[in-house]
Amino acid sequence: MSNPHAIGIDLGGTNVRCAVVDAKGQILHRVEQPTEADRGPNRVIAAIADQVAETIAAAGLNRTDVVGIGLGAPGPLSQRHGLIYNSVHLPGWNNVQIRAELARRTGLDTLLENDANAAAFGEYWAGAGAGGEGDLVMFTLGTGVGGGVIVAGRPLHGHYENAGELGHLVVEVNGHPCECGQRGCLEQYASATNLVRRAREAMQAGRESALKSTGSTLAELTCERIVEAVRDGDPLATEVWDEACRYLAVACVLIQHAFNPARVVFGGGMSQAGPLLIDRIVGHFNDMRWHLMDDFPRITLSALGTDAGVVGAAALVLRQAPGELAISNC
Ligand SMILES: [Zn+2]
Repeated sequence: MSNPHAIGIDLGGTNVRCAVVDAKGQILHRVEQPTEADRGPNRVIAAIADQVAETIAAAGLNRTDVVGIGLGAPGPLSQRHGLIYNSVHLPGWNNVQIRAELARRTGLDTLLENDANAAAFGEYWAGAGAGGEGDLVMFTLGTGVGGGVIVAGRPLHGHYENAGELGHLVVEVNGHPCECGQRGCLEQYASATNLVRRAREAMQAGRESALKSTGSTLAELTCERIVEAVRDGDPLATEVWDEACRYLAVACVLIQHAFNPARVVFGGGMSQAGPLLIDRIVGHFNDMRWHLMDDFPRITLSALGTDAGVVGAAALVLRQAPGELAISNC
């Protein structure tokens, strides 16, 4: 196959994105459809198999033109065993053998990867890190904070396959309780959800802010509205936004010392704030980094945006050495 193609899938709690990707990281065609996870794993996997067939046909290809499927899914999961243990994004899914089932339904070898690792690999291969500069760590900032770590050209899984849960790095001792059972997790300070929570709590405690007079109730406050208010110079919005950026800079320092990567990338919905996000993170990072060596990562925005997951999942398949993709039904 002179120009091999692979399918990349990004299975999210709301939507499933599916794309045909070539060896240069270009998307030939993509199809997005609602996940409807509450229908249960069997019906969702059957729908994904149909989506794969539709995407291949729409790209003008045959199944034999495709090397395999890379499937990025929310964890915790076992990449090794092709198994989703359970996920807050897929309610009611427990110990689902998704890799074997998708391979059986499509007839294509399938690889399972944590969705944040897949997105990080997409950035490493065809996005912000595509210059070939080396190890890369990615944060995805949305409802929660996800993380992916690429070391020596591969996603880092760790002994228990849970490496890269960067949203649960503790950045504040005895801090806000997290759903995971720890306190002071990064996610409690730097996710879109918690940014809204912190602004709302401050206003309920009596702080004045332009966020109160937007015609919507406090319950309808969004991260996008907070970003607008930061641009307008609202002191409270600026304070909570800056606090989130400061905690993200703390995480960058931890990442620098743990992995010493060439680059740290920020993606996800909150990264649409652009320089407002990245310049503040870099500013705080420069204030708190050490002075013993100049071994600092480049801290940048995602280059692939919402395509990072599908491109990375497909790339993981395309980058397998011939014969290594024996992963369909084990
Ligand atoms: Zn946590």
